[in-house]
Amino acid sequence: MPAPAIFWFRRDLRLADNPGLDAALAAGGPVILLYIRGRRTGAQRAPGAASDWWLDKSLAALGRDIADRGGQLALRSGDPADIIPDIIRETGTGSVYWNRRYGEADRAADAALKAQLTEAGCKVASFNGHLLTEPWTCKTGSGGPYRVFTPYWKSVRAVYAPPPRLPAPDRLNTLALSSDHLEDWGLHPSGPDWSTGFGPVWTPGEAGARARLDAFLSVGLATYRDHRNRPDVETGTSRLSPHLAFGEISPAAIWRATQQAMEDGRRNIPDDDASVFMSELVWREFSYVLLYHYPHLATGNYNPAFDAMPWRDSEADYQSWCRGETGYPMVDAGMRQLWQTGWMHNRVRMIAASFLTKHLLLPWQKGEAWFWDTLVDADPAANAASWQWTAGSGADAAPYFRVFNPISQGEKFDETGAYVRKYCPEIANLPDKYLFAPWTADKATLAKAGVELGRTYPKPIVDHATGRQRALDAYEQVKAARTG
Ligand code: FAD
Repeated sequence: MPAPAIFWFRRDLRLADNPGLDAALAAGGPVILLYIRGRRTGAQRAPGAASDWWLDKSLAALGRDIADRGGQLALRSGDPADIIPDIIRETGTGSVYWNRRYGEADRAADAALKAQLTEAGCKVASFNGHLLTEPWTCKTGSGGPYRVFTPYWKSVRAVYAPPPRLPAPDRLNTLALSSDHLEDWGLHPSGPDWSTGFGPVWTPGEAGARARLDAFLSVGLATYRDHRNRPDVETGTSRLSPHLAFGEISPAAIWRATQQAMEDGRRNIPDDDASVFMSELVWREFSYVLLYHYPHLATGNYNPAFDAMPWRDSEADYQSWCRGETGYPMVDAGMRQLWQTGWMHNRVRMIAASFLTKHLLLPWQKGEAWFWDTLVDADPAANAASWQWTAGSGADAAPYFRVFNPISQGEKFDETGAYVRKYCPEIANLPDKYLFAPWTADKATLAKAGVELGRTYPKPIVDHATGRQRALDAYEQVKAARTG
């Protein structure tokens, strides 16, 4: 009988299409299915509160899926560099399998552990379970990493073919270990439980991810190109991001299913819609390319000229932004959607992030940190890269001088006003004409709609034109640093 093998779950909480797990099972002996709530070392970042909420439910779902197949998910807390060698000693394990991570601190921790285990005579094998193509595989003509999205997307689209599907095992022969109790980890917020809005919106776990994908393929994909920028259309985007962030579904499985849906032809999906959707999946990949090759992107400006940006420091403005009380309904609706559901529509993320970094001139890192704590899809690569993209300091970024207008963006993308009315109910009775700029309404209109600015809904914390000009003036210092 082969020695037991450990499969260490990390951001790959699924049984199907899991190459590391598949290899551990193929070794032929019993497996130890392990999740470690890690004590972080070095620069490793602790998950945010919303991610912990998701993790709690996702691990419960994974544990049930494993139990249904006759196995056990062992939960341990502490430093993996102590826990895994202890389990090896306890059980006589000969091999350890995992899927790779790409952040600098995680890679350093994995490399150190691999060296330690290999030295002790244990086989360690790692796999790609998180990405379509790993960050070092697609290179530009001159052999360097891509720094511009469009050529990267074209190169991925030209060469990428998803690997064959790896079905979930029917039965699992696991070695039972002592395990922590998930509820003792206290991942679900308490006192107060501010996550009450999450449950009705999300179904964490592999089955929830698959159901979300199927629903999107049958309803959302066919209109993706037109609806993806419409926060008022619930089915406009896939909402797969938290499932992807926790690895409950692989990007390869999504790619394969999308191709299949197009090939079936049954769903009448225009090529363009599927292609735009796949390109969004590749934005996720591109973020990982950037994080891998430019790890300082997680905390510092990708473009060092932005080190000269004269950011402001205003806790009051930051708190108004976090709470969704800026007086700009489109920004406030987004920030409230985030707080209430753990997710925000991509278009509104851009509007809210632009408002923080440009109108308020607050450093992108402050916004990134708030998103990290409150997003259920918080992702080390996509979050930092997207914040820098919006702030103008990132790779292939939106030009700094393009300041999103929170009023016209609302008028354009929340066409019906349903999104703002849902998350800012106190102004729901305003006529469409004033919905995105309530301060432009006359007194009688405000009174009729039951709005008293400064009491029932905030006055704008910064004037749009003044905030925009202040941002552009500040940018002159970045330009001077770049040329000087
Ligand atoms: P869909 O439109 O259905 O796209 C499918 C998948 O493609 C998404 O699930 C996601 O994995 C990927 N994707 C789509 N757009 C992007 C993008 N611009 N960059 C990277 N990947 C993308 N996404 C995260 O997953 N985690 C984050 O922490 C995160 N932080 C962000 C912060 C800011 C300031 C901005 C502007 C964007 C951020 N994004 C982040 C990207 C994007 O907003 C979300 O991925 C998207 O809204 C998720 O919704 P969806 O699953 O319905 O996307």
